[in-house]
Amino acid sequence: MLKSSSDFYMQAIKRLTKRLRGFHNRLSLRVQTALFTAALCFAAVMLAAAWSANVARQVAIEGSERELVQLAQSLAGRLDQHMFERYREVRNIVGLQPLRRIWASRPEEARSVLQELQKTVPDYAWIGLAAPDGLVKVATGGLLEGVSVAERPWFIDGLAGITVKDVHDAKLLDAYLRTSPDEAPFRFVDVAMPVQAPNGQRAGVVGAHLSWRWAQDLQASFLNRAGVADGTELLVLSRDGSVLIGPDDEERDQGVLVDLASGQGATVVEDATGSMIVALAPTVGEGEYPGLGWVVAAQRPRAVVEAPADALGRRIILVGSAIAMAAALLAFILAGRVTGPLTKLSHNLDLVGRTPELTMIERQDGSSEIVQLSSTIRSLLRRIGTAEAQREAAHVEVEDLRREVLAREQAVDEVARRLGGDLETMRVLAETDPLTGLLNRRAFLAAADKAVAEQRADDGMVAILLFDIDHFKRVNDTLGHPAGDEVIRRVGTALQSNMRSRDKVARFGGEEFVVMLVEIGPHETEALANRIRGDVAEIGFDAIAPQLAVTVSVGVALTIAADRDIEDTIQRADQALYEAKAGGRNQVAMAA
Ligand code: GH3
Ligand code: MG
Ligand code: MG
Repeated sequence: MLKSSSDFYMQAIKRLTKRLRGFHNRLSLRVQTALFTAALCFAAVMLAAAWSANVARQVAIEGSERELVQLAQSLAGRLDQHMFERYREVRNIVGLQPLRRIWASRPEEARSVLQELQKTVPDYAWIGLAAPDGLVKVATGGLLEGVSVAERPWFIDGLAGITVKDVHDAKLLDAYLRTSPDEAPFRFVDVAMPVQAPNGQRAGVVGAHLSWRWAQDLQASFLNRAGVADGTELLVLSRDGSVLIGPDDEERDQGVLVDLASGQGATVVEDATGSMIVALAPTVGEGEYPGLGWVVAAQRPRAVVEAPADALGRRIILVGSAIAMAAALLAFILAGRVTGPLTKLSHNLDLVGRTPELTMIERQDGSSEIVQLSSTIRSLLRRIGTAEAQREAAHVEVEDLRREVLAREQAVDEVARRLGGDLETMRVLAETDPLTGLLNRRAFLAAADKAVAEQRADDGMVAILLFDIDHFKRVNDTLGHPAGDEVIRRVGTALQSNMRSRDKVARFGGEEFVVMLVEIGPHETEALANRIRGDVAEIGFDAIAPQLAVTVSVGVALTIAADRDIEDTIQRADQALYEAKAGGRNQVAMAA
């Protein structure tokens, strides 16, 4: 169970890092370099493209804003100028002193004056003179003559003074001017002013209906000027914000324009149809013409303006990507120049030592660093080779020495073994009586000295038994010396067979024997002496002389405090032996 989600994420990151490291170790250096370069170049290209496109967009928008402001201002100026000219024409004709007479009394002339005016400016759709009661007296083309215009605003306001009426649909004239029902309804701008008779009385109102087409044509000619970008729109808005000229799109939020109409200059506006750059220029009138409060709006979709900048960005990405790929390829090739010799070096190095004769790599070129590395490795291999040879030589030397030492050790062992054997033999010979195989006198005394010392330390006693064959001289004399030797050997064997392992038996010289017993008391000693004496008397000498009976006399002494050494004890045992001989032989005598 994980402690918390942070642990989980830490583990996930660890796993990812491990996997990335594994991945990174599987990729060759040249692929890594190429990928890294490509990534770096692509990032740089993307940044450059984004930055350039952004700058280009700003420049394009600012340029477009200036251009649109200029366009709107020019159109506004032209609208003002045109209206002012018409305003002046009407005022001039109506105000001219010589013409005053004709307005009231000479309708034919009045009509021809009006028609002349219409001819010079074809935009006049209709110019007429209405009497003060509202009936049209004369008009261009005789249209509406005799018809009352008393209710028309231009007439009502025109009676009071010079007036200009904003764009409106044709009412009475529509039927006369429109040639087919499909044609768009006629729209006019009116200029009207009162007419005075020479006597100063009011003779009526001259009203000129200016076809709104001129403004539309003007707008169209502005739009069709060379250099105006696609998608640019020119609108003329009335004071109340309604569209007088230009696309009256339902979807478009003209309210935005209305809000803006009070100001001027350019701005970027977002609405339902997208982002637009909008420039506004109000008409302000000219001279005595006060203006009708129109606002010219020039607008262009932002996308259109930014399209070249976007194209620039795309072009930078395209060219930049090509450069990035070329850079990656170049990096790949360059990295290959670095890694190729490295790989070869590594391969050559790997072969070293696989066959005994291959101990060196060839020189590797590719770059100064590679040459340096190759030279360093060659030097290292040479040093290793020297060290190896020295080690080998030292090994051989050590091996030789070891063999020699072994041989000498073996020789020494052999000599020691031989000498040891000889020494042992000599030691045994030195301590052994050759006739009986028992200890000799010297070995016995050494062992007895040692035993007495040990027993003394333990407050124990040592017993000495001295044996002498009775009348041995007779054996020699009657049976011969060798038979005597045999008797001596057999008696020795009988003594030995009665001994414990720690007791000592020795031939003391001639036909005398000595026995040393330890950890024993006087009675057991005496008993043992008698048993041995009995055993000897039982020995049969059938091979020598069937009737021969051999006896021994025994002197026994146990160590006492007065004994200075074993010799004193033996001395006392000998004394006892003498007593045994004297007592009749074949008996045991205990020392006092
Ligand atoms: P006893 O002791 O009973 O008084 O009488 P004995 O005849 O044994 O007297 P003694 O001890 O004087 O004699 C010992 C003799 O033993 C003298 C000697 O010739 C003989 N003899 C000594 N050594 C040897 C030996 O190695 N071999 C043989 N065959 N005889 C020996
Ligand atoms: Mg003797
Ligand atoms: Mg004797």
